[in-house]
Amino acid sequence: MELIEGAKRYQKVSYPLRYGIYSELTTRDYVFHFNLNHEIIRMWGRGQNWPHRLEWLKRTITDTWVYYSTGGYTGVFETIGEHYLPNFPYPTNNQLGGTPFAEGSVKKAIEHWYPYVNALQNDLTAHPEGISSFSGYKPILPPAVLKNKGRQLRKILTGHISVLPPDTRHVDYNVIPLIVADGCRHKCGFCKVKNQKGYRPRSRKNIEEQLRNLHVFFDNDLINQNALFLGEHDALGIAPEDLLWAIDQSVERLALNESYMQGTFIFLFGSVYSFLNCPDQLFDNLQDRPVTTYINIGLESASQATLDQLQKPLKVHEVLAAFDKARFINQNYPDIEISLNFVFDESLPKEHFVSLEQLTSERVEKVSDKGSIYLSPLRFDEPSRSRLFYFYQLKRRSRLPLFLYTIQKL
Ligand code: SF4
Repeated sequence: MELIEGAKRYQKVSYPLRYGIYSELTTRDYVFHFNLNHEIIRMWGRGQNWPHRLEWLKRTITDTWVYYSTGGYTGVFETIGEHYLPNFPYPTNNQLGGTPFAEGSVKKAIEHWYPYVNALQNDLTAHPEGISSFSGYKPILPPAVLKNKGRQLRKILTGHISVLPPDTRHVDYNVIPLIVADGCRHKCGFCKVKNQKGYRPRSRKNIEEQLRNLHVFFDNDLINQNALFLGEHDALGIAPEDLLWAIDQSVERLALNESYMQGTFIFLFGSVYSFLNCPDQLFDNLQDRPVTTYINIGLESASQATLDQLQKPLKVHEVLAAFDKARFINQNYPDIEISLNFVFDESLPKEHFVSLEQLTSERVEKVSDKGSIYLSPLRFDEPSRSRLFYFYQLKRRSRLPLFLYTIQKL
């Protein structure tokens, strides 16, 4: 097993690119990757039975396996903005992809990777002369310990990240989570990711404690981390000075700007009210920091009938004001990107689709590659051809980058 210095920058390429520093164990049957804490982070099969030679399984920090597929390379990049499609073992609103977790070879890898690797480890221990090629050798952590670590993260945060912002795709969803406020303000009727907690900013003391524990949690692998997600659903709603303080503290204490990975990225959600009430000074201050910030706002619709049907407590004039403010920030702050979410589903009023087309084409004076619009299918695990057809039609006319948003947990 050798230590490898992988790519230093997240890139959108049509071949599998491995990021950060990791160790690799290649056998006749599999390739395994481990992080600097000796935790498995990735694996794929080498035999004929593996679904595709360029597809792999990734293990997240919450100990969830995600299967990255090519999707046959047909339309994946146009649809989600990435060349590889993450497939999840839990229900979500994805419109592409198959059922890789039902594949025998994928199931076998998940169930048997540890006994397989452990047998090799035991073999090496019995034959110490083999250890010299086992650079940085230390026993690999078993599944029970990894599962426990996943639970430990929940304890550290005293919360659970039920959804990541769509923009976290830019760092392959590799973020350090830090909760700066619980819950959200709107509690929209349609939303499947909200929790029952009332909106409540965390104290600085609590944030400091999370950071201390996160430092221990990530340990040696902190060197591979350069991105932070500020949870939960409306980090933008806390006092601007507290938000800036939390970012500064995180960058410093987690050494995000000393990472092996280039750039420092901050991701957060904001509600429409928080965004509209945000003073320009906050954006000036964010722009002055050595970070790139992505803020995702859920507008959902510019049709009042739709907002009412969704039980989203907003008025159309507020949605339009947020849309225009996002355009202004995207044009004037090079290191801040505001992305916007809209829902879509056949059951929504016609007015919703008309307003969506007007917003993404007529209301935008010129074509821009910044300020992505994400369309979020309302239904879970019900891919539909007509929905995809509608998406491509809208995308063709849109003057802003337009993608589908698949709900992904941490
Ligand atoms: S859509 Fe956003 S604001 Fe509305 S309930 Fe869900 S998390 Fe809260």
